[in-house]
Amino acid sequence: DNQQQHSIPPCPFAQAGAKLPEGHPPVTNGFGAPINEPYATQRVGEHGPLLMQDSNLIENLAHFNRERIPERNPHAHGSGAHGYFEVTDDITDICASELFDTIGKRTPTLTRFSTVAGEKGSADTVRDPRGFSTKFYTKEGNLDWVYNDTPVFFIRDPSKFPAFIHTQKRNPRTNLKDPNAVWDYWTIPENQVAIHQLIQLFSDRGTPASYRNMNGYSGHAYKWSNKKGEWHYVQVHLKTDQGIKNMTNEEAQEMTAKNPDFIQQDLYEHIEKGDFPSWTVYIQTMTEEESKKLPFSVFDLTKVWPQKQFPLRRVGKLVLNKNPDNYFAEIEQAAFAPSNTVPYQEASADPVLQGRLFAYADAQRYRLGANYNQIPVNCPYQSQVNNPLIRDGAMNVNGNMGSEPNYYTSYTNYNFIQKDRPIQQHQEVWTGPAIPYHWTTAAGDIDFVQATALYHVLGKQGNHQQEHLAHNVAVSLAGARKELRERAYVMFGRVHPDLAKAIKEEAETLAKD
Ligand code: NDP
Repeated sequence: DNQQQHSIPPCPFAQAGAKLPEGHPPVTNGFGAPINEPYATQRVGEHGPLLMQDSNLIENLAHFNRERIPERNPHAHGSGAHGYFEVTDDITDICASELFDTIGKRTPTLTRFSTVAGEKGSADTVRDPRGFSTKFYTKEGNLDWVYNDTPVFFIRDPSKFPAFIHTQKRNPRTNLKDPNAVWDYWTIPENQVAIHQLIQLFSDRGTPASYRNMNGYSGHAYKWSNKKGEWHYVQVHLKTDQGIKNMTNEEAQEMTAKNPDFIQQDLYEHIEKGDFPSWTVYIQTMTEEESKKLPFSVFDLTKVWPQKQFPLRRVGKLVLNKNPDNYFAEIEQAAFAPSNTVPYQEASADPVLQGRLFAYADAQRYRLGANYNQIPVNCPYQSQVNNPLIRDGAMNVNGNMGSEPNYYTSYTNYNFIQKDRPIQQHQEVWTGPAIPYHWTTAAGDIDFVQATALYHVLGKQGNHQQEHLAHNVAVSLAGARKELRERAYVMFGRVHPDLAKAIKEEAETLAKD
């Protein structure tokens, strides 16, 4: 195979978990040469100026300067662990991917959770959606499920993503979080498609008690197909086996001050003591015919599929059972992208998903470099890379396919056509002019229907969930200007008049103007 063709052996330090050798090894520099007195600095006399020839000092200082890589923008603050996915139920009628082909089959995985808006060192207990990404090291290549803990999102057009995230981050002048920007963005009529996600975010699920106590959702529709070429739209749900548990707004704020890494610590300590968190994985499926009868678009990320009409079907279990040995190597360098998929699982035309297919892999190239697939945690180690075109580039550390020609020659034996994995060219047929399409300029009533349904779900729970929702919105909204508060009351009134009334009563007592 390719590994054996290298004339230079791969560097052992390129492997995960490189450890100090046994015994009493000499200290060396970064190139393996022994050095004496690593803390000594070469100088003229005892207290004279330092010498350029002290390459140990120079290397230490210079490497330290380069320890940080660009943090993710967004999803900078993350925690993660290794684990496995186990098939519990046969879904080969829906999806022929290798990881699902046998009940009981286990596929190794890596999961990274995150908050969205905060920087890398920010508190992980704040109100925010949570990222929930899992990499499956399958025999058909790496598959990334890049999900969130909410089933919907704030936008349905990726052109809005940078603007929206800017409002969640810092004001360019004050360098402070800016409630005016937040509430100005959300209350602009055409941005009110975010209303369903706002009800999720400001319910107590916006402050989960831990990563172990929240669900994960694909949000987007994906297209999965079986061996016969039949295909369905699919949504994935990962339901926590630990039960949903949230903090109240005040509990979360208190914890943010007391221990801003509370959720990282919770995940690490539970796994370390053998209390492994798990999630039961379900799918919802929809035919193309059914999708045409929906009152909303199947490609609209602000909508869920009603569970009575599209019941959950169990697939398997995700278990997290090993902490990383090295956070930077295994979690900071972990690179997830929805474009990393495997045969029989494809992206739908959901425009936000289509945008993510570009943006995530591009973010990883920027953070980690063009050869980020060679970093051990990203390497498809259960599969094999047979691609003579992906060559060279910064930090190429795997031998670069040695003397293998760097194009498909007339003599090499690559298999271009895989009859057992047909391209799904019959799935959906798209025609039309190339136009700058603006998906409704203002949120219509249909965009409020599921937000109202969720408001009623909260009401049925009988543990003050509706009151908490109103309170959580009011506390945030009170920081915004009066004119924006007024816009917000009208918007929440379209969800339910009682909600708008409760928000207004509290926000106006808290507001300073
Ligand atoms: P259902 O009554 O069948 O489903 C309601 C779902 O709401 C539950 O299955 C549960 O999903 C979720 N839920 C329960 N409590 C809360 C809470 N406190 N905060 C957020 N979600 C909660 O009705 P529908 O399927 O018609 O959905 C009604 C509303 O429920 C939707 O508008 C949506 O906002 C919300 N919802 C729907 C989901 C779906 O896939 N249909 C998924 C999640 C929320 P779970 O077990 O996943 O927590």
